[in-house]
Amino acid sequence: MFDPYKALYIHVPFCKQRCAYCDFATRAVPQGDAAINAYADDMVLSIRRAGKQGFLGSIETVYLGGGTPTYLGSRALTEILYTLSLSMHLTDEVECSMEANPDSLDERLVKDVWALGVNRLSIGVQSFDDRVLGILGRVHDAEAAKRAIEIAHERFENVSVDLMCGIPGQSQESFAASVRTAVAAGVTHVSIYPLEIHEGTPFGRAVAAGRMPAIDEDLEASYMEIAEEILGQAGFSRYEVASYARPGFACRHNIAYWTGVPYLGLGPSAATMTQNATRRMRKQDDCVTDDLDARQMRVEDVMMGMRMSQGVSDELVAHASELAPELVDVLDGLASRGLCTHADGRWRPTERGWLCGNDLYGAILDVAP
Ligand code: SF4
Repeated sequence: MFDPYKALYIHVPFCKQRCAYCDFATRAVPQGDAAINAYADDMVLSIRRAGKQGFLGSIETVYLGGGTPTYLGSRALTEILYTLSLSMHLTDEVECSMEANPDSLDERLVKDVWALGVNRLSIGVQSFDDRVLGILGRVHDAEAAKRAIEIAHERFENVSVDLMCGIPGQSQESFAASVRTAVAAGVTHVSIYPLEIHEGTPFGRAVAAGRMPAIDEDLEASYMEIAEEILGQAGFSRYEVASYARPGFACRHNIAYWTGVPYLGLGPSAATMTQNATRRMRKQDDCVTDDLDARQMRVEDVMMGMRMSQGVSDELVAHASELAPELVDVLDGLASRGLCTHADGRWRPTERGWLCGNDLYGAILDVAP
């Protein structure tokens, strides 16, 4: 017997064009391609099946990600969202987020998806600097990004944007200007992603061939500090290492991932996490990718909690320590290295802990490998 799923992720594996840095499970197809209709048909069946199996009865957050969900177009999205609303209680209390790209977000689509229960849009802006967008291989320009936010606001109060930093050719001034532009556009949430280089991508090949510099972690850290300063002054709080929100607008779906909430993934390459008190399993495309026992699970909960600014409570650490007694010593050691602190009944990551995330998270996970 497993605990009910509380979060649902729907993966959309299509984009207009592949960006130069992207290794997500997506592919470029022409608009209106037959694969899009076939995908929508399959997704409708998957949702109905999940509903009949009783998997959707306790869902509190839904996230349509990708890929580019808005690239499906109004018809396919309407089919999927309508089926979802028939298969679960898609009320206002359910946070229903959808990723959108500026080139495929228009007024009609905004009105349609809002009417069908989506209540949060996350727009992949990445930068408001056309030169930087060109380097990234994005299909939109800064004007399209601003227009997309404006259109989104015609229905949505809860609008998030993604911005990237550490991009070769991007200056600190350019990044700071993008963060300020997002604030001025009235968004409620900003995610900041440092560039990662993945093998097999155009950026990966360019770095391997010496045509592009490798990631400079110190430089990326300085961008994160710029974001924190501008967004903090504008009334956003950093509730997770890469996420900033105005009060009341933290993403509940992402918090579910970091707090050990079971989630169901539908669509190609979507991960599912199933658990009960003694076992946690993650599956992707019918393959088990993680199979944790109770000890590993409890330690993982502490590790994931340290991604968030609120960290983890003494109670959670005590619960994990019942099976992994060395955990407190490890946290003490991390605190003495300045990677976390212990105060007011909580262990919290420090700025340095976030910047040296591999050290912080790795040391905790090593308690129960
Ligand atoms: S739009 Fe997003 S998912 Fe699609 S290729 Fe670009 S980065 Fe990847």
